[in-house]
Amino acid sequence: MQQLQEKPGVKIGLETHVQLNTKSKIFCPCQNPSVLKEEPQPNTLTCPTCLGMPGSKPSFNKHVLLLALKIALALDCHIPDSIFFSRKTYFYPDMAKNYQITQYEMPLAKGGSIRITAKGKEKEIRIRRINLEEDPSKLVHSEKCCLADYNRSGIPLAEIVTEPDFSSPEEARLYVQKLETIMEYLHAYDSSSLAVIKSDANISLSGGERVEIKNITGAKEVEQALKYEIIRQQNMLRMGKKIEMSTVSWQPELGITKLMRAKETEEDYGYIFDPDLTAINTVRYIPGVQKELPEMPDAKHERFIRSYRISDKLAESLVSEKELADLFEKAAHIDARAAASFIAGYLKKTLNWSNLKYRNAGLEDRWVLDIIGMLKNRRITDRNAEMAARKMVEEKLSPKQIVEKHGMEREDATTNTEISIERLLEKNKKAVSDYRRGEKKALHFLVGLAMKETRGKIDSLELKNLIIRAIRNKRN
Ligand code: ADP
Ligand code: MG
Ligand code: ZN
Repeated sequence: MQQLQEKPGVKIGLETHVQLNTKSKIFCPCQNPSVLKEEPQPNTLTCPTCLGMPGSKPSFNKHVLLLALKIALALDCHIPDSIFFSRKTYFYPDMAKNYQITQYEMPLAKGGSIRITAKGKEKEIRIRRINLEEDPSKLVHSEKCCLADYNRSGIPLAEIVTEPDFSSPEEARLYVQKLETIMEYLHAYDSSSLAVIKSDANISLSGGERVEIKNITGAKEVEQALKYEIIRQQNMLRMGKKIEMSTVSWQPELGITKLMRAKETEEDYGYIFDPDLTAINTVRYIPGVQKELPEMPDAKHERFIRSYRISDKLAESLVSEKELADLFEKAAHIDARAAASFIAGYLKKTLNWSNLKYRNAGLEDRWVLDIIGMLKNRRITDRNAEMAARKMVEEKLSPKQIVEKHGMEREDATTNTEISIERLLEKNKKAVSDYRRGEKKALHFLVGLAMKETRGKIDSLELKNLIIRAIRNKRN
């Protein structure tokens, strides 16, 4: 399958919607439910405007504009001097006024790009445009009826549209992950709130027309949905069938896409300029927003390599989460390399494993600094530092307490009484003779056993040397 995806002729473009991190909605003063941590009761955060009642008038939330300009500047987009909103007309219960306020003729921004690293190579994904729009309400389908929750109606969305620059589902995933990182750096999106990032993925294979997969939440799901579509479309082409322009929906529970409709074109929506909202002059806000731009992940990445002399890979991993990057900078004075490999390696792995971000894992910076200090002073082995990271996340205790509680302090092989290398070699004669025949794996195996027996308290390198020496002595 891997090879099929790499085949030339796969073309993918994404339209990604980010629910923006502002206190209130885009066109009314209602609270923005997406910044909450818990789902509010249905239809409690509404007003005549976001319910679409006749006679109600929208007014544009300036904080949305400032956040959107920040995104546009961070992505190096061109921002027109003046922007305006349009009505996209359609009839559906998720939009009571029968049109969505969005942008069409004059979007917030054009051009720009996002860099990803795929298979060790850098690639630039061009941004076509960024639109601001209101989220429609949420329809909850049940067997007998369909319920509408208008809390979601009016959540500010930034829609970021790429050129069809991706050539594999993996690239699309990396892009969505990078976009999420960028949004978090800008505080435009907070992954620990209810806010979501949803994508529509457009995909075509040579010989077929473009299919749009609607409404995919999350980066990994984007990859899954695209992988599925490639196989489906390849099978169609192989059977001599035509792939028509169409819209499908992704069914995450089933892992398949389902046909929704033959694709309509944008012209079908009959866009008109929204007379309730005036044109907005962007020029006067730009210098202020520019000043607020933080150091972005790519710049931080390069600076980390340059200033701390850590590897490209570790630097990339550190900057993928702003809080981890900040933590690294706090710890770098202790020992930059130990700090980078502990934070980007063990700590991040543990957090990912428990599906946590550093900022909501309940850890204290000081604990991480302490453990890096222990690594530097060789008071703990690499292996036990990894174990301690896990325990720290599970038990919310400082490394000193963890090391004491679980007996993790490093020991010298010479003073450790728990292990007899002699006995170990005696019990594993086959591995010893394999090693003598030149099998490196046999040595790893023996070191692994010794590590286990000493519960990680002795450096693996030290154990390895001891074992090699013991095997040599045995021969004599
Ligand atoms: P629409 O107006 O129907 O939304 P756009 O031209 O704005 O269509 O493109 C929507 C998305 O589809 C963009 O992300 C674009 O990169 C992508 N796209 C355009 N052509 C193709 C293609 N041949 N294959 C895959 N994606 C495409
Ligand atoms: Mg579109
Ligand atoms: Zn409202």
